[in-house]
This record gives sequence, structure tokens and C-alpha cells, in this order.
Amino acid sequence: MGKIVAANWKMNLKRQGARELAAALARDGRQAWLFPAAVHLVEVAEAIKGGKLQLGAQDVSPDRDGAFTGDLSAEMLADAGASLVLAGHSERRQGHGESSGLIARKLKRALQGGLSPLLCVGETRAEREMGHAAAIVGQQLSVLSELSPTQRTQVAAVAYEPVWAIGTGLNATAKQADEMHREVKSKLKSLGMEKTPVLYGGSVKADNCAELLACPNVDGLLVGGASLTYESLAAIDDAARK
Ligand code: PEP
Repeated sequence: MGKIVAANWKMNLKRQGARELAAALARDGRQAWLFPAAVHLVEVAEAIKGGKLQLGAQDVSPDRDGAFTGDLSAEMLADAGASLVLAGHSERRQGHGESSGLIARKLKRALQGGLSPLLCVGETRAEREMGHAAAIVGQQLSVLSELSPTQRTQVAAVAYEPVWAIGTGLNATAKQADEMHREVKSKLKSLGMEKTPVLYGGSVKADNCAELLACPNVDGLLVGGASLTYESLAAIDDAARK
């Protein structure tokens, strides 16, 4: 069975690169979750057809349709082949000023439009140094209380991604990750979400994934930079199958 591996390709790759990477993973019969750029969804959906890989979008509009220039609705993303969507990624919280209120709207809209969200949470370095990491992550998880009990069970996963570890080469230690995942799981349990997988994300690479995967409270990995080449992503996925 193994653990979940989710690949966030962010604003990387071109159509051909995304298609070839997805096709190579599909040929191996892999089960990872792929989050390509929205303009590559259709192409990647085609490349992974009939296999076990799952496809997700990196963002979704909080609105259903209408005059929202540049936005993509959950229905459009599902129609392009996505079944998953990221919400609350720190690059959107920080770079696009996304608030908890907006993230809650996106979660609800995703679910109404047929997408299962993967909610990302995580503290900054300053918040960790002040001893506030668990409180911040707890606050970020509170958006889940705005979902109905049924909607909560449709959330694909929560990813703990300390902001100080994303794209920095500094990953959380296995102990730090496991401790926070325990906190996250306890909060999820109080929301009736004890079955929701909790992934770790932040500078995961082929050479540090084994110790993170070995943590009992880590149900999988969300991988950014190291998911952009076949060799690296396949090595992480192989480790997650052991
Ligand atoms: C991410 O952005 O979700 C992520 C985990 O990035 P990286 O692996 O590059 O730190």
C-alpha cells in the first residue's frame, strides 16, 4: 500500500515536459498525486488516463462563475481532469495575501464543484522561534470547522509544510515533523477527521525522505522542487512504497 506522494510542480515545466514526466510515472503504474500548472491539466490528464495517478490543480476560485478575470472555477478544473486541489499553500497565503476566510471559501467551493482539497498549513521561522508553531497550525486548521461533517470527510489530506522549510533546503527533522503531525492529528480527530491523511512538505528530497516516511504520524509527502524530474520523484515514490 505505502504512503502518499504528492508532487507540486508549481509554476514549472512546459507542456511537453509535464506530459513526459506524467507519462513516465504512469508507465510505472505509480499512484502519486500530481499538481501541474492549470494550463497543463488537460495534457497531463490524457497522459495518465487509465492509470493510478491522480491529478490536482494548484488553486481554485472561491466563486462559481462570472466576472472573475483570470480565475478558474472548481467545475472548470474538474472538467480539465482534476479531482484534487491545493488550498492554503504558504506561497498563496504569503504571495497572494490569502486569508483564512478566503481559504475556507475555496475549500467549500472546491468540494461543491467536485474537487477534493488538500489543505496546507505551517508556521514561519519567527513563529516557531517564539514557540507559537502549534498554535498557528491549530488556527490554520480551524477553517475546517466551517465545513459540514460530510464535507470534512471529503478533504483529501492536510499537509504540514513549515514555511521555513519550503524551497529552502532546510527540512524539518523527523522528530519535529512527527511531533507536529501528532498535534495536527489530534485537532483533526476533534473535527471528526481522524481518517484524513497528514502529509509532510518542505525540502523533501530523495536523500531525506526515508526518515520522514518512517515517522508513524507522517502519512505521506508533499514534494515541490524534488518532484520536477523523473529520477528524483520516482526515488521518493519508491521509498514511500517500502
Ligand atoms: C511545496 O511547495 O509544497 C514544497 C514542499 O516545496 P519544496 O519541496 O520545494 O520545499
